[in-house]
Amino acid sequence: MQITQDKVVQIEYTLTNAEGEVIDASEGHPLAYLHGHGNLIPGLEKQLEGKSVRDKFKAEVPAVEAYGEINPALIQQVPREMFQGVETIEAGMRFEGQDENGNVQAVIIRDADEEFVTVDANHELAGHDLTFDIEIISIRDADEEELDHGHAH
Ligand code: ZN
Repeated sequence: MQITQDKVVQIEYTLTNAEGEVIDASEGHPLAYLHGHGNLIPGLEKQLEGKSVRDKFKAEVPAVEAYGEINPALIQQVPREMFQGVETIEAGMRFEGQDENGNVQAVIIRDADEEFVTVDANHELAGHDLTFDIEIISIRDADEEELDHGHAH
């Protein structure tokens, strides 16, 4: 069986960035996903297409097909008083906030002084070219409920 639309696939993966640092790895707990439903980043899903069980390969995914390029519009200066009750704010800290629509949004602090805080709502992997070492563990047909939900169970 090969990986095609509507297959549930289990993969072992190790994700490294352009500097060769390991960012994430399945480490014996394979990731199950439903193929062809946008559950993985587009560049990875594309390279998984047509693979078979036990295939091992390296997938190089450019930023634009991974988490996208850095969007400067998502980097904003906000008044320090928006962080009332937070004693220390430093570059590198992470916060979860809500946008106007009430969606939870993770931001990372890029800079802070007494008046203003620079927050970056880009995905932390935006702008990064990624490399995945992949092994295909299993492939099966999705059941109706999974197709209905658009994800693997
Ligand atoms: Zn479901």
